[in-house]
Amino acid sequence: MATRSFSNFIDGQWLASKSGHLFENRNPANQDDLIGLFQESTPEDADAAVQAAQRAYASWRLVPAPKRAEILFRAAQLIAERKEQFARDMTREMGKVLEETRGDVQEAIDMTYFMAGEGRRLYGQTVPSELRDKFAMSVRQPLGVSSVITPWNFPMAIPSWKIAPALVCGNTVAFKPSSLTPLSAVNFVNVLTDAGVPPGVVNMVTGGPDVGTRLSVHEHVKVVSFTGSSAVGRIVNQNAANDFKKVHLEMGGKNVILIMDDAQLELAIEGCVWGGFGTSGQRCTAASRVVVHEKVYDEFIRQFVERTKRLKVGDGAADGVQMGPVVSEGQLQTVMKYVEVGQKEGARLLTGGHRLESGALARGHFHEPTIFGEVTPKMRIAQEEIFGPVVSVIRCRSLEDAIDIGNGVAYGLSASIYTRDVNRAFAVMRDMYTGIVYVNAPTIGAEVHLPFGGTKATGNGHREAGTAALEVFSEWKSLYVDFSGKLQRAQIDTEEI
Ligand code: NAD
Repeated sequence: MATRSFSNFIDGQWLASKSGHLFENRNPANQDDLIGLFQESTPEDADAAVQAAQRAYASWRLVPAPKRAEILFRAAQLIAERKEQFARDMTREMGKVLEETRGDVQEAIDMTYFMAGEGRRLYGQTVPSELRDKFAMSVRQPLGVSSVITPWNFPMAIPSWKIAPALVCGNTVAFKPSSLTPLSAVNFVNVLTDAGVPPGVVNMVTGGPDVGTRLSVHEHVKVVSFTGSSAVGRIVNQNAANDFKKVHLEMGGKNVILIMDDAQLELAIEGCVWGGFGTSGQRCTAASRVVVHEKVYDEFIRQFVERTKRLKVGDGAADGVQMGPVVSEGQLQTVMKYVEVGQKEGARLLTGGHRLESGALARGHFHEPTIFGEVTPKMRIAQEEIFGPVVSVIRCRSLEDAIDIGNGVAYGLSASIYTRDVNRAFAVMRDMYTGIVYVNAPTIGAEVHLPFGGTKATGNGHREAGTAALEVFSEWKSLYVDFSGKLQRAQIDTEEI
């Protein structure tokens, strides 16, 4: 069968890059499986996408929000109809098991419906004026062209978290997906087009950092919404600073599960397996640290290791597989490097620690689910984002100790506590300096109608999802209407009662 080639999508047309170069997208579970060829775009292609978005903005911003929302409702329906195919494409291009890629697509459905609902709200405020015969209110305004730059680990969910709110608010979009997951991006853009998004309103350009850089600096771009590593987020932030663009950054994590001595241990262990090894540990919210009370530490370790050893690793598309490959050879090398670092630092390797290369696994980027015990809080494996199936278990003496360890990292995305004590649960909800806290659940499992994001090196104060996302993609305008027929001066004229 001939290899399929995919194009950029600019101004309603599928176009080849000016570079004339293509890059390969291969299955991380089987490098012999070539999924397709995609455009290795240039900054000039990015310019064309922004220019098309800028032209389309003139009319899209004036389409009534409930009408923009109708298109999103249709898009959500179409994603639902195509869910199974999209999930299979996603597993093939980034590796996570089908059950999880179905969840990823479902998240895009949920978010698109949620934001479509916002089309009949987009609430502002009306407030009484301090002066007679004067009306005061605030309304949301779109910003203009939105650059959307996304990673590979949630290849449809994350683009939907950004593009759906951008559109409902009246912005147009120049979108650059990760080069590891361009097919899911093409699938999403096709849905939007089929749902009736007009030409130029959503444009997609595939390619590397050059394209992302241009989308971060282009003078017509008014807001940049980026999800990815903190290192790249910093560059995007700096690039966009020159002309004061609004920048929304969702970045790395080093999330923690705290397990107290009164926890339901089996439940906690289920949570650690799912939180630590779901998506092969490649979630921004992955539970890469587990802090366990010393009274239950040994028993926890025994059961956690035993449970992890039973995980079935393989091609995410195959029945019964619980953990797929990591996304790329580079990511696999990073994981292997950290396993070495952990051992050199004196942590105890309790299970895993090796690349999997037997039989068909040799064709992919597979790594054993790995647990380190006797990790101390300042070790690199307890501080740095590994983004792979490696969990560090740290011993603690008390709740306060656990909270200190939990907060003692550069990131602040998600934390969780397992306890049956409501006082401890509330203390953690209050004292963990993270954007998300779970009680008796792992660090993953966010729902689309609450804000999502983190503190410190995870984020720059914005949130996506829920109505918080509207703050990223709209600006407030305050409107005063004086119908007194005379000059009334706020703060100066006083009202006779
Ligand atoms: P990455 O930072 O390498 O890349 C993210 C995107 O930025 C990609 O599209 C990439 O091509 C692009 N890019 C690279 N260099 C750029 C530049 N100089 N200018 C503009 N764009 C550039 O991240 P990744 O490996 O794709 O994803 C993994 C990271 O994403 C992890 O750190 C993870 O924690 C993070 N992540 C965070 C969240 C969150 O919501 N906080 C969600 C998912 C993933």
